[in-house]
Amino acid sequence: MSMWLESAILFEKPHEIFERVFRDLRPRTKLPEIRVEFRRFANANSFVRLEEDVLSVRITDVLERAPAPILEALAYILLSKLYRRPVPRVYSERYRRYLNRKEMRRCLHIVRQTRGRKFVSGPKGEQYDLEEIFEQLNHEYFFGLMARPALGWSLRVSRATLGHYDPSHNAIIISKLLDSEKAPRLAVEYVMFHEMLHLRFPVDHKGARRCVHTPEFKQAEKQFPLFKEAKELLKRL
Ligand SMILES: [Zn+2]
Repeated sequence: MSMWLESAILFEKPHEIFERVFRDLRPRTKLPEIRVEFRRFANANSFVRLEEDVLSVRITDVLERAPAPILEALAYILLSKLYRRPVPRVYSERYRRYLNRKEMRRCLHIVRQTRGRKFVSGPKGEQYDLEEIFEQLNHEYFFGLMARPALGWSLRVSRATLGHYDPSHNAIIISKLLDSEKAPRLAVEYVMFHEMLHLRFPVDHKGARRCVHTPEFKQAEKQFPLFKEAKELLKRL
């Protein structure tokens, strides 16, 4: 019996796992249509919703390759919560142990870091067009040879992070704070130039540090003629 069950689990598709768990938890309820999809969330969360006979399950894509017993545990967790029942301990522990594995923790850390910063708007802001600024600087300092990455304004008006180069998405994200009349163009150009240098001088990422300024980076940064003025302007924003 247990051998049969184990091999059955291995061949079940995610929606079949949810169907089986649903039947186990709600034997007398009509089985809804079950849709399971994996989504690029910025964390390990998963969601379930029951609406007009359709049970929609959205699971973090980090679990897309998780073994079936882990998805089974997740199905028990989500469906128990949906019906406000206590989650059987065997499943909550199985799931928690899996997420706590070292590779899993590392994977989630990377996902949070890279996806936590989505930019809503494209390069055209209210005040400045990042593509135009990029191409101007590309022409002036890089012989027009730098391939343009994705460019966007940050979701939040961040003062702490004015610019950021995200190598995993090949994207330069500039703080929405700078898309304003109060921000002089020189300041925006300087932040963009700085991020372009991160593209120009890639680094081996050690640990969580995002912004690494090597001596050659600092040397190159001084090409920007109004370097000091720009830094002063940024301080006053
Ligand atoms: Zn930097």
